[in-house]
Amino acid sequence: MIGSSEIAQRVKIIASEINREYESKNPLFIGVLNGAFLFMADLFKEVSISCEIGFIRVSSYNGLQSSGAVKNVIGLSENLSGRHVIVVEDIVDTGETALFLLEEIRKQNPATLKLATLLFKPASVKKNIKPDYIGFEIEPAFVVGYGLDYDGQGRNLNDIYVLNET
Ligand code: 5GP
Repeated sequence: MIGSSEIAQRVKIIASEINREYESKNPLFIGVLNGAFLFMADLFKEVSISCEIGFIRVSSYNGLQSSGAVKNVIGLSENLSGRHVIVVEDIVDTGETALFLLEEIRKQNPATLKLATLLFKPASVKKNIKPDYIGFEIEPAFVVGYGLDYDGQGRNLNDIYVLNET
């Protein structure tokens, strides 16, 4: 679906926008594991202003409500007040994960909060969410590669592929 050179070009463009918009703001990039690790690494290498990095993980667990899975954030720093935070995601599909994360981070009163995602599926989004930085808008197919997995496999592929479900 998307080749590595196209990804690299797009990552450079996003980094240059961030370099311009965040100069002297020492932004804190928060990557969402596992999927965003390659995008985060490549983006971070192209950012030339002062900045910091951290990673979180979102886990689902069965809460007491019968409504099903309740999400939980692991590894979130407690010092986000006044910081310029950029959440870095691999993909925004329904938007549920990203919206949940942004709400959790907002509780800590960051100075600004933006969302960068490598991939965005506008046709799948169910929540009122529009990422601030988008690598590529894609059709609602299941994709693998460049950090994204199918059943744990495929994260090491350099390009992004549509999974052949047959
Ligand atoms: P959400 O539906 O909450 O926006 O997306 C939640 C998570 O589902 C993403 O962070 C990602 O881990 C996974 N996901 C959604 N669409 C895809 C896809 O096309 N490929 C892969 N590998 N993961 C996906």
